[in-house]
Amino acid sequence: MSDSARPPRPRALFIAALLLLTLVLAGVLALQAHWTFLDHRATAERVLRDNARVAAARFASRLSSELWYVAFMPPLDALWRAKAGAPGGPLPSPAQLGRGLEAPTAEFMKLVRYTFRYDLRTKRLETAGRPPAAAARRWLIDTLPIHSRTVYDPKEHLAAIVRTVAGMPRAIVYTVVKDKGEPRTVVGFEGDPKGFGPVYTMGQEKIPLLPRPLTGGLPDDSLGSAIVTDADGIEMYRSPVQYQPRFAGHDTVEAMMGGMRVQVALRPDMASKLIIGGMPRDQRPRILFLLALTAGLVAAALLQLRREYELSRLRADFVSGVSHELRTPLAQIRMFSETLMLGRVRSDEERERSLEIIDQEARRLTHLVENLLHFSRSERRLTRLSPTPAPLAPLLTEAAEAFTPLAAARGVTLCTELTDGVVAPVDADALRQMLLNLLDNAVKYGPPGQTVTLGVTVSDGRALVSVDDQGPGIPAAERERIWDRFWRLERDRGSAVAGTGIGLSVVRELVALHGGRAWAEDAPVSGPEGRTGSRFVIELPLVPQAHAATGASPLRADAGASA
Ligand code: ADP
Repeated sequence: MSDSARPPRPRALFIAALLLLTLVLAGVLALQAHWTFLDHRATAERVLRDNARVAAARFASRLSSELWYVAFMPPLDALWRAKAGAPGGPLPSPAQLGRGLEAPTAEFMKLVRYTFRYDLRTKRLETAGRPPAAAARRWLIDTLPIHSRTVYDPKEHLAAIVRTVAGMPRAIVYTVVKDKGEPRTVVGFEGDPKGFGPVYTMGQEKIPLLPRPLTGGLPDDSLGSAIVTDADGIEMYRSPVQYQPRFAGHDTVEAMMGGMRVQVALRPDMASKLIIGGMPRDQRPRILFLLALTAGLVAAALLQLRREYELSRLRADFVSGVSHELRTPLAQIRMFSETLMLGRVRSDEERERSLEIIDQEARRLTHLVENLLHFSRSERRLTRLSPTPAPLAPLLTEAAEAFTPLAAARGVTLCTELTDGVVAPVDADALRQMLLNLLDNAVKYGPPGQTVTLGVTVSDGRALVSVDDQGPGIPAAERERIWDRFWRLERDRGSAVAGTGIGLSVVRELVALHGGRAWAEDAPVSGPEGRTGSRFVIELPLVPQAHAATGASPLRADAGASA
C-alpha cells in the first residue's frame, strides 16, 4: 500500500480523542452538578437545623417565663405574704395557699402535694399538706442546702427542681428567707409536673416558635413539634402533632427554672418557607440520563468513526488491489506482444502460445473491467438486468469453456456436473459475470493442480448453481462478511494473490436482482491434502420473481443487501 493510499488513521484517532474528551468533560460537569447539589442541600439543611435551634431556644425561654408567672411565682408570693419563712410562724397548706389565686395558678395548685419549710441551721423540715414519703423527705433534706447554695438565684428569689425522685415526678419550688443577711430558711412547695400541662402552649401569640416575618404567622403546631423531658430524661410533655425529627434543635430551660430539656422538630415542608427558593431540587437523575445519552452518542460516533476508518482502509486496499490486478495482465500482454513484434518467437507453437496468453490476459482484463463497471454502476444504483427463461446447462458449459484456458494456465482441472433441462429466468451476461467471478476465485485461492467443479441441480423448486474448489475454504465466521464490498479475508490482505474485494459483492447483488440468494459453505468433497475447500452456491428461482429485473426500469443496485 502506498503512503498516499494509507487511511488517515491519526486524524481518526484525533477525532476519537476529542469525542472521548467531550465525554470526560460531560462527566466532570455531571460530577460538578452532583457536588453543587450536595452542597446546596447541606446548606439548606444547616439553615433548617439552625432555625430548629432558634425555635427550641424560644420554646425553652417561653416555657421558663410562663412557668414563672403561672406556676412558680404566685404560690411563692402567697407563702411570702403568709410569712411562712418566719421560724415558728404558720405554714399554710396547699389548699389554704390556693385560695384567691387566679385561674391557671389555682388549677396548678390543685396538684401541689405539700408546702415545706426547711431550717438551714437546725436542718429541720416541716411540711403541711400530704406529707412526703420518707425517701423523698431524706432527698429533700439532702438536696435543699446544696441547691439553694449553687443554683438558687438570690436576685430572682426563686429556684425550682424538676426531677423524678423515688419513682415520682416532682416539681419543688422554693425561695430562701434570710436572717441578718444570711440564708436561714427555705420555704416552698412540691407540685406535680403534670400541672404544667396548660403552660406548654401558653404565650404562643407573644413568642411563637419562629419570628412571624419568617413564617407568615403560622400557628406553632403547623410549624413544628415539641418534646420536653426533665433533667433525668423522663418525658414530661409531647405536643399532640409530632413531626419527623429530621430538622430538630435542642435547648435547656435555665437551671434555676428546673433545667428541663426541650426538643423542637421543624415540620419538613417548612423548608420552602424558611429557605429562599425552597429545598434544592434533585436534578441528578436528569443529569445522569443526559450523561448516559451523551455517552451513547459518543459511542455511536466512535462506532461510526471506526466504520469510516475501516471503509477507508478497505478502499485503500481496493485501489492497490485494482492496480495490482491491472498491472499483471498488462505486463504479460506487453511482454508477449513485444516478443511477437520483434519476431523473437522460435516456432509456430510458441507464436500460438504467445497469442493465447495475450488473449487470456486480455479476457482477464475485460472481466476485471466488467466487474469494476458493474460495481461503479451499482454504486450509482443504475444496474439494469433483462432476465429471460433459459436452460442453465448450456450457459454453464459456455462459461466453463471460456474459463478453461485460464484454469489450465494454473494446472487446474475444470469439471462440470450439470443437470439438463433446468430452465430459469436469467440475464445471461449477469450469470456469466457471476460464474466467472466464482471460478476466478476458486482458481485464484485454491492450489495449483486442484479440481474445480461447476454444477447445477434443482432443489425445492429452485436452481442451485455451485462452484466447488479444493482450496483453504472460508472460516465459518467470515462466510457473511466476504460478500461485503472491499472485504477480503485477513490471510489474503496484502498477500501475493491480488484482489479487489468486489467480486463476491457483485455476485450477491446480481443474484439478488434475480430474486435469488448466494452463500458459501464447505465443499462436499475434500481436496488432495484433505482440505475441505469451499462451495459457493447461487440459488435462482425457476419462475420469474415479482421484484426481479425486467429491464424496463433501473433496479436498485443495493438490493443485494437483502440477499
Ligand atoms: P477478491 O478480489 O479479493 O477475490 P472477492 O469479493 O471475490 O474479492 O472475494 C472476497 C474474499 O473472499 C477474497 O479476498 C478471499 O479472501 C475470499 N474468497 C473468495 N473466494 C474464495 C475461495 N474460493 N476460497 C477461499 N477464499 C475465497
